[in-house]
Amino acid sequence: MSNKSMIISLIGRPNVGKSSIFNQLVDGKRKALTHDTPGVTRDRHYAISKFQNASGEEEKDAIIVDTGGFYPNDIDESEFERNHFFNIMREHAKLSIKESDLVLFVVDVREGLLPMDKEIVKILRASSKNFWLVINKYDTDKQAGTEAEFYALGLKQEEMFIVSAAHSRGIH
Ligand code: GDP
Ligand code: MG
Repeated sequence: MSNKSMIISLIGRPNVGKSSIFNQLVDGKRKALTHDTPGVTRDRHYAISKFQNASGEEEKDAIIVDTGGFYPNDIDESEFERNHFFNIMREHAKLSIKESDLVLFVVDVREGLLPMDKEIVKILRASSKNFWLVINKYDTDKQAGTEAEFYALGLKQEEMFIVSAAHSRGIH
């Protein structure tokens, strides 16, 4: 990719910890880009963060997108007709995926693999964008093994990250 900053979006169901991970990734360097940034959609939270490549040599800017604006804060799945909620989620996920170079798809290890997660994976695969699975809320090693059900999604080991945003585990 040229000089254009990479756009990395956090997507996933409400409450899985997208905003918590966003805050960890941008680490206080939050910079609102909500105004007229070409190619990105309004009503999301944007920040610029610097990332090094694996060997630690190269530092590059990336625009991190928290897609939290998708849902009312207090949304409860049970309040919605299942299909209605899926339709809303599907449309927003598609928009967000479209504007991304890389998607961080966040799931909640404590809730496990839910139908909506599988739905999002289908959308991601259909989009043929790069995506990584971020298995969040892995707060302690007492949870060992609970992450295994996500392997059924068929991602490669290097595309899966087990993290705890609350405890800053696995974020680096
Ligand atoms: P979002 O809706 O996906 O943006 O999720 P939030 O970042 O707002 O987090 C939803 C809830 O999960 C909040 O109460 C967070 O404090 C909590 N949370 C986020 N990350 C973790 C984590 O790693 N472990 C635990 N135990 N809770 C977390
Ligand atoms: Mg959020």
